[in-house]
Amino acid sequence: MRTLQRYRMRTPSTGRETIVLAEPDVQYVDRETGERLEPVAQLLPLAPTVSELPWSIENLRFCNHCDQLAQRDLLDCPWCGQQMDSLAE
Ligand SMILES: [Zn+2]
Repeated sequence: MRTLQRYRMRTPSTGRETIVLAEPDVQYVDRETGERLEPVAQLLPLAPTVSELPWSIENLRFCNHCDQLAQRDLLDCPWCGQQMDSLAE
């Protein structure tokens, strides 16, 4: 289970972006410029999560109980909590 949230962080002067598994109350700085990184976005899936798959369409499938989209690597649907059918492939 991952409990830390992933963020996209940007260095203001260069615009360079990096993905950081951020701990709360920690300041992250650019290794080259020493600038404080600015959080740009949180990455899905949000923590806490058991899945490391990003929510792009090829990593999703429909739950056979509630018909909601769920990550392919999950056994239990995050929406209705029921166990989804195993994947055919
Ligand atoms: Zn479901």
